[in-house]
Amino acid sequence: MKTSELFKMKRVLSFEIFPPKRTDSVDKIYDMVSAMKELNPDFISVTYGAGGSESNAELYNIASAVKNDYGIESVAHLPCINLTKMEVRKMLDDFKNSGIENILALRGDLNPDITPQNDFRHASDLISFIKESGDYNIIAACYPEGHIECQNIVEDIRNLKCKVDAGASQLITQLFFDNNYFYSFREKAAIANINVPIEAGIMPVTNKKQIERIVALCGVDLPKKFLSVMNRYENNPEALRDAGIAYAVDQIVDLIVQGVEGIHLYTMNNPYVAHRIYNSINTLLVT
Ligand code: FAD
Repeated sequence: MKTSELFKMKRVLSFEIFPPKRTDSVDKIYDMVSAMKELNPDFISVTYGAGGSESNAELYNIASAVKNDYGIESVAHLPCINLTKMEVRKMLDDFKNSGIENILALRGDLNPDITPQNDFRHASDLISFIKESGDYNIIAACYPEGHIECQNIVEDIRNLKCKVDAGASQLITQLFFDNNYFYSFREKAAIANINVPIEAGIMPVTNKKQIERIVALCGVDLPKKFLSVMNRYENNPEALRDAGIAYAVDQIVDLIVQGVEGIHLYTMNNPYVAHRIYNSINTLLVT
């Protein structure tokens, strides 16, 4: 099923997972998917590193198992900056053969140690290419605070419009900790005639290291309220985890009240956290 169709019927709840590290057992990921299945997510998306550190076999195997063995709709992430058109075509064929019809089309982060291929410069190039290659549902990334490389949000929204015009039928945001960025972004998107469903990406922060990585990677704002919660419990891992979950639940409740079309949970491969969040918001999702 094309995940963009889900939004016509309900408020969507989806999870993001990543393939295991080379040192981890693959079985662990399947135990996790099995635990997440109990929460009845509308889809699970599987990340893929632009740096090519993971083999794309893992992406197929996991995305395909999510769909075919666990009966959950799956989305394959596809960052294109270091791939050729031929490689992407092969991946698309493999997706089709595994029954995967939903692709999150991304540029990927620029890596100073890797010279990019020149076949795709922006995610919009990939979206046009996928659109011409077959009947896939294409999802794109968006940034409530603006993408880290972009000088201003207006330019970023224009570039986002290009992705939608090229064929993206659904958007997922980068994580954010202040919902006001999301509401303001949603208004700007509507003014720019971006009329596809936008899912809010929420990451429950459960340890201090995670926060440092997030800021370095995507430069999102850490509001005062968030920082005081994190600082208060930084030396108590259990309390920090519980406070991180409570903060994410608080964000989600507010988003639902404000009519968000979907919540995409960055699960960090942690089914315990996914369960805790789900149990707190489950009844709200249907109202
Ligand atoms: P683009 O849409 O190409 O935008 C990148 C920058 O270029 C922006 O600043 C934009 O304003 C600008 N731009 C776009 N088009 C043009 C144009 N025509 N002319 C000039 N400037 C332009 N990365 C991974 O490696 N693997 C993953 O699995 C992954 N999953 C993600 C999931 C989500 C939900 C999100 C939000 C991000 C994910 N990322 C992932 C990170 C993503 O690859 C990076 O944020 C990357 O830097 C930008 O990707 P993009 O697809 O948004 O790029």
